[in-house]
Amino acid sequence: MHIFYDFAINNDNVIIDFKCISNNLEKNLFNLPHSYGSANNLFNDIVVLNSNVIIHYNYLIHTTKKNITVQYTFRNINIFQQHHAFSNKNFIVFNSLNGLILPKYNTNKKFNITFSTNKIIFISGVGKINKNHTMLCSCDKLYNLMFVYSTKWVDVSNTVVCYDPNGYLFIEPNYMIRKINKFIKLCNKLFGKDATFLISYTDQKVSTNGISTFGSGHYMGVNFSVMSNKKSNLLNSEIFIYLCHELFHFYNVKKSSVNQKWLTEGFTEFFCRFFSLNTDDFENEITKLSNNYYNNKYKNVKNSYITENKYWNNHELRQLCYTKGFTYALYLYKTQKDTFIKNFIKMCKYYKKSNNELDNKIIKKFFNDPNFENYIIDGKTIVS
Ligand SMILES: [Zn+2]
Repeated sequence: MHIFYDFAINNDNVIIDFKCISNNLEKNLFNLPHSYGSANNLFNDIVVLNSNVIIHYNYLIHTTKKNITVQYTFRNINIFQQHHAFSNKNFIVFNSLNGLILPKYNTNKKFNITFSTNKIIFISGVGKINKNHTMLCSCDKLYNLMFVYSTKWVDVSNTVVCYDPNGYLFIEPNYMIRKINKFIKLCNKLFGKDATFLISYTDQKVSTNGISTFGSGHYMGVNFSVMSNKKSNLLNSEIFIYLCHELFHFYNVKKSSVNQKWLTEGFTEFFCRFFSLNTDDFENEITKLSNNYYNNKYKNVKNSYITENKYWNNHELRQLCYTKGFTYALYLYKTQKDTFIKNFIKMCKYYKKSNNELDNKIIKKFFNDPNFENYIIDGKTIVS
């Protein structure tokens, strides 16, 4: 199999010409990009050109609109979500999961891949591409790539930060990079991974005084966006924690259904703070997150109550998974101390190696906690 992505970048848009050449492939072996713009019906439009070229299509993934509401399908549920386009004048960034037609997940598969572009593009883990580049790739690697077209590029050892020079960047990039690198180095050591990350900031001024942040870190690249019209220390520390959260997804277990969000999101909430904050700051965060947990009206629902549909459509229920997981991790740390940290790392390594779907029964064994059933499955209030 040989896959070709040809990027044509013009101002705020990128048109991707996708082609796959193979002797023996069906078109349903590919996943569509599941967000941004009008990719919804793409699959119906895929053209089978001849017996050798299986798929050939070109599509637009970015628009110049700042707030676009798009519909996409995730695990068979239609979701309407507002996206802040990761594009601006002279700046486009997307990760392969959101931007590219991808082969369906199969970590062992190796194939040739050719990227070509009309302007300089940076690809995380690959580097700078002037015109074109061909390499041997696996699905796993391809899924983790992040693509950046930008005039600004800051590269400091492990961390690559790219930002929009026209945006409102409220943090001092070099300072933030130093802080984040410390966190990454510690995690690399503990989890035995050598991660290269790419973080992209996109910023937007909004009319309210509120701080709103969102990011996605399930893959090696991290998308991150900040909306605020005020620079403050609070914003600074929120951004730092937020970035650490997204980065920690790289070390934590990944594949999960909503019934393990307490682990994938909640433990990420815990460890991103535990490994990066000093004692006082950590204590403050404990108060904040525990209070959110105890005040959440869904805190006593059974784990099985949480379905895909409810999770993605109910903000408070979604928040519960974050704060309950945090509180449970805190409880485990208080009762087991370093044994908990060791067992957590062991579990992450086990799942990394086995590639199995997460299973609460197996997770329970790693934590060796008599209250697992009560707290996680039955929804009894966690006492930490
Ligand atoms: Zn997360």
